[in-house]
Amino acid sequence: MTSKVAGKVAGSIAGATKQAPRAEAPRPDRAEAEAAVRTLLRWAGDDPLREGLAGTPARVVRAYEEFFAGYAQDPEAILARTFEEVEGYDEMVLLRDVRFESHCEHHMAPIIGVAHLAYLPDRRVVGISKLARLVEIYARRLQIQEKMTAQIANTIETVLQPQGVAVVIEATHHCMTTRGVHKPGTALVTSRMLGRFRSDPKTRREFLGMVGR
Ligand SMILES: [Zn+2]
Repeated sequence: MTSKVAGKVAGSIAGATKQAPRAEAPRPDRAEAEAAVRTLLRWAGDDPLREGLAGTPARVVRAYEEFFAGYAQDPEAILARTFEEVEGYDEMVLLRDVRFESHCEHHMAPIIGVAHLAYLPDRRVVGISKLARLVEIYARRLQIQEKMTAQIANTIETVLQPQGVAVVIEATHHCMTTRGVHKPGTALVTSRMLGRFRSDPKTRREFLGMVGR
């Protein structure tokens, strides 16, 4: 029993970038989630029973289902279907300006940005819409941008095993623009380069040039 638990812990650390974290307690039901929203409304100083707020807890919970839908989705499965009939195509595949909306795990405030993804195929390519879906799955979880950047790159690397992967994310963090230090107009840029994008400066420059950096 103990070793089984230990194995699970080790597995979850090794796979930390791929798997949704597991909640310790059982998942609350919808009524409990709505009650929690009513608590926050009271905490803010308002009356959850007044007419304008009566439907708010249900709406907030439905919005959360959308914001955090990524926990129920498997990012590796999205990329699993690949195509090998590519006539030897081995140049860069780049998907630019994939807009995403996420939430920071420190304030649950929106992170709004774009991701640029590239890989150098090694015989296999994936449908381009799948790369956009990959961004969406990780965005629809509580995130920090650095982690999300690494997760996207690592998943492409693991599933496609290409010659290289590059991911750049530029995003605005509402926890910095609408609260705290109140610095609108700031953007955080993060990147992760693997394989030839890391080892070959020419390939990296070509990628950064194509994404306008
Ligand atoms: Zn934050």
